[in-house]
Amino acid sequence: MKVAIVGAGIVGASAARAMARRGHEVTVYEQHGEGHAYGSSHGASRIVRRAYSDPFYTSVMLEAYPLWAALEADTSSTLVDEVGLLYVGKEDADTMVSLVRGLTDLGVKHALRTTRSQVPGGPAIVEGEVGVLTPEAGYVRADRALAASLFDAKAHGARVLHQRVEDLDSLSRENDVVLLCAGGWIGRFVDLPATVTVQTFAHLGGQSWSGPVWIEDGPLFHYGFPSVDSHAPKVGVHAPGPAIDADEIERRGDPSHVDAIASLATRRFGIAAPVVQDVGRCLYTTLPGEDFRIGRVRDGVFYASACSGHGFKTGPWVGRVLADLAEGEDPLAPFARIRHDIG
Ligand SMILES: Cc1cc2nc3c(=O)[nH]c(=O)nc-3n(C[C@H](O)[C@H](O)[C@H](O)COP(=O)(O)OP(=O)(O)OC[C@H]3O[C@@H](n4cnc5c(N)ncnc54)[C@H](O)[C@@H]3O)c2cc1C
Repeated sequence: MKVAIVGAGIVGASAARAMARRGHEVTVYEQHGEGHAYGSSHGASRIVRRAYSDPFYTSVMLEAYPLWAALEADTSSTLVDEVGLLYVGKEDADTMVSLVRGLTDLGVKHALRTTRSQVPGGPAIVEGEVGVLTPEAGYVRADRALAASLFDAKAHGARVLHQRVEDLDSLSRENDVVLLCAGGWIGRFVDLPATVTVQTFAHLGGQSWSGPVWIEDGPLFHYGFPSVDSHAPKVGVHAPGPAIDADEIERRGDPSHVDAIASLATRRFGIAAPVVQDVGRCLYTTLPGEDFRIGRVRDGVFYASACSGHGFKTGPWVGRVLADLAEGEDPLAPFARIRHDIG
């Protein structure tokens, strides 16, 4: 089949790789060029985990997690460091109870921790809290993973054009299949209840440690990384930042999120005078319930809006799902909740 893919973020790159490896003629259209920093897939690192307070996504990750090792094997690259994940929160919080129940029901290895000394390099666990440690988790080197996916797609014949798609109708006439992987721009093609926001993350200057990635179950839902290659430990805020039109080039985040990162560094890591540096911005495209939506737009046109702030780890899996849909399969039968056909 002749296949056009709109967007070369982790979802589009993964779909290109899946389709090209199956022998299809693939062209990827990317308005900002490969590896740009205006969307959602740039930067040094992303958390890869199975542990979710919503067991639905733990079940998705049972399928998705092994695909990272497959990408590493296919491209002879080291992308993921399985340093473990520590998920910290109040022991009686519904989210933490649901997290542990989901991991238990789905047979995911985990252990409960109550003090920081039990998890070197992890955030402090205070009275009344529990830390849920899952060893099969860690971070993926985001920029490298994106480059490896595009490299592999091109090694199997795909082309990547630095071009913006304006006219879906003519693209769909010229191709057997069109896959819309447009991230924060998906609303230009598909009517979805998505909100695009500017998210903030930063690094803790002068600090260096090894340890797990971590998530704090709380109002701002902070998350973080140990030192990754040459990068100082990183802290991010998952709570929504200011809404934005994805074409707006200036990415202004919520300044209070930078302050929150500093106070987190003191509260969870005991850093008296944190140096918050290398503040970064990135887009979330969030759907109700922080869900994904994947489906058919019309004959020969499919889309994936699989972000909601947690869609990097599922990139290769969503790419495979789109390839299966394009070939007339029904890969989402076990995951009907995220199947949303438009037409
Ligand atoms: C700060 C931050 C931290 C995150 N942390 C994590 C994490 O730890 N773990 C995790 O799993 N996920 C995480 N995520 C989410 C994850 O990064 C995203 O879900 C994922 O990158 C989305 O990929 P995408 O391909 O859908 O979107 P994008 O990477 O934005 O790709 C869409 C592409 O489509 C292109 N495009 C759009 N319209 C057109 C057009 N008309 N013509 C041509 N090209 C077009 C855009 O230029 C863009 O490159 C995080 C996101 C952010 C912002």
